[in-house]
Amino acid sequence: MHSLQQYAQAEFGATRVELRRSPAQHAVVSFYARQDAAIRIAASKASVAPACKAGCAYCCYYKVEARAAEVLAIKNFALSRFSPAQLQAVIEQAQRNVSQAKGLTHAEHLATNQRCPFLQETRCSIYEVRPSKCRAFHAADVEGCRASYEHPTDMTIQNSFIPEIFDAANGVAEGFYAALEHAGIDSTVYDLNSAFVEAIQNAAVSKRLNSGKKAFLSATVVTVREDGAAH
Ligand code: SF4
Repeated sequence: MHSLQQYAQAEFGATRVELRRSPAQHAVVSFYARQDAAIRIAASKASVAPACKAGCAYCCYYKVEARAAEVLAIKNFALSRFSPAQLQAVIEQAQRNVSQAKGLTHAEHLATNQRCPFLQETRCSIYEVRPSKCRAFHAADVEGCRASYEHPTDMTIQNSFIPEIFDAANGVAEGFYAALEHAGIDSTVYDLNSAFVEAIQNAAVSKRLNSGKKAFLSATVVTVREDGAAH
């Protein structure tokens, strides 16, 4: 079993190579395959099994964040797979989330359930390209997730992460983000709702990302604390 830093180092090297031949929004897909594989192997060796299963979607009401390359991979997927009506419904839900968040303080936003625009009934409609944070999220016990969903203002509720899976998932992700940064590619953490709407409405986002500029001009930026948590 590797440490979080070892996962990060390995992924940093793999992504650096990948970025020499592919744009970031394509490199992200290979990164997802490596992150999924690391999670799968870690889960097979962990002493506790994750409680996560298809149809459980409590965590899809949390704030969702993504890097620009991830948002563009989602945009490409949505444009090629969604019907016009489905795409419109996603955009409208994302816009509703953005408007609702605008009137909230940071603490109020954290304490508000927001349905992810990509959640269809209890399934992720972009499962193949869901953001790395969604891939990393897991729990040993569904009760914490249910309690967070039912009592979103109760900040004392803890999620029961499994250390082996946490290190694999977050280590690989940290390596990918560091390689983006090292290559001069925007690795800002964006709110997925506002970033997806901007990506759909503005074709220049992709050009800006691939020319080393800040990809999004109006999407909400999520600040990441030193301990890695978003706020
Ligand atoms: S992108 Fe998919 S997995 Fe992530 S919060 Fe949205 S519906 Fe859930």
